[in-house]
Amino acid sequence: MKIESKLVHSGDRKKAGDYIPVTTPIYTAASYFYDSMDQLDRVLGREAEGPCYARYDNPTTSALEELVNDLEGGHGALACSSGMAALQMGFMAALIDRPKRVVAATGMYGATTNMLNNVLAPFGIDTTYTDVCDLAALEESVKETKPGAIVMETVSNPLLRVGAIDKIAEIAKSANAALIVDNTFATPLLIRPIQLGASFSVHSATKYMSGHGDVLGGMIIADEAHYNTLRTLARTTGPNMSPFESYLTMRGIKTMGLRVERQCANACKVASWLVSHPGVEKVHFTGDPSHPDAATIARLFPNNLYGAMIAFELKGAGRAEVFRFMEKLKMIVRATSLGDVHTMVLYPAIASHRDLAPKQRQRLGIGDNLIRVSVGIEAPEDIIADLEQAFEK
Ligand SMILES: *Cc1c(COP(=O)(O)O)cnc(C)c1O
Repeated sequence: MKIESKLVHSGDRKKAGDYIPVTTPIYTAASYFYDSMDQLDRVLGREAEGPCYARYDNPTTSALEELVNDLEGGHGALACSSGMAALQMGFMAALIDRPKRVVAATGMYGATTNMLNNVLAPFGIDTTYTDVCDLAALEESVKETKPGAIVMETVSNPLLRVGAIDKIAEIAKSANAALIVDNTFATPLLIRPIQLGASFSVHSATKYMSGHGDVLGGMIIADEAHYNTLRTLARTTGPNMSPFESYLTMRGIKTMGLRVERQCANACKVASWLVSHPGVEKVHFTGDPSHPDAATIARLFPNNLYGAMIAFELKGAGRAEVFRFMEKLKMIVRATSLGDVHTMVLYPAIASHRDLAPKQRQRLGIGDNLIRVSVGIEAPEDIIADLEQAFEK
């Protein structure tokens, strides 16, 4: 089946007694019993499939996990209460039997950098930051630090750089390091990291997967070598997504193909309009033929989908001018998220990258005039018209 068909069929239609629900319902039970104690014994011993306790399994969440694993072509998936919980599980499963060192891409989601610096570092896990788009620099850094894991984003945040996951996976494999890829911005429609050699693919399901701004959730998909470790850790630590969120995420994914196709098409139109606007200093967009990683994008992305995130620099603007620009927007929503059906704007300096020191932001190229746009499914004319009136003095 092609991914467009998997989106609407995978995971659903499991037999429940005499009947089969067409779409998976919300199971709220915390525990399950079986007529036969022998059967319960087999389920608890993981010799037979079936739910027994919600921290181990939940039928709604299992359906979502089967769906997402099918989309990404992994060995198995775990649904978590947030994207950050999924990332933390990735670090734990990657490093439990490896050196407690990480090589991380520069320019990641602010909370990920924060997790490395302020959560994992106090537990003795050291991180070295490297530009993963520079393969020679990455190889050097891996040779020097001998990490247990490499972590990167398919499309970096917020400057939208794209690393060669397949080549980075080779570097990771030859150093026996796990490769963790945050695939949130790309979605499995654009990239499937496990199939390119990554050990784990992580999503904030809060974003494109649920797609409607009503879920906090995360997904982590593992390859065959890491799935059992991930599951076993999760059975003890309990990072689980709730069945309500699992249901909403699964419902969201059914239209993810349509949404993302429309969002990508809209983003191309908005980005080319921004490029020609005199009030714009620079546009960062993965569909731009002069993007610094254009060759990697052409090699790895499908040829009609480039992503729906745009970052642009307001000419001559500082914080006050950016605030005024954003406050003038009438339809576009000023909010700290992305991937929803509606177009959203975010100011990285006070939101996703707020916790970084101003100097560190400057070093990463995140200026005080940078605005990030998550393009929605509205009529592109309306998105452009709203931006246009915000430029007017
Ligand atoms: C939002 C986001 C996260 C964190 O996900 P939560 O669901 O908010 O915990 C991680 N990585 C990226 C790229 C994100 O956009």
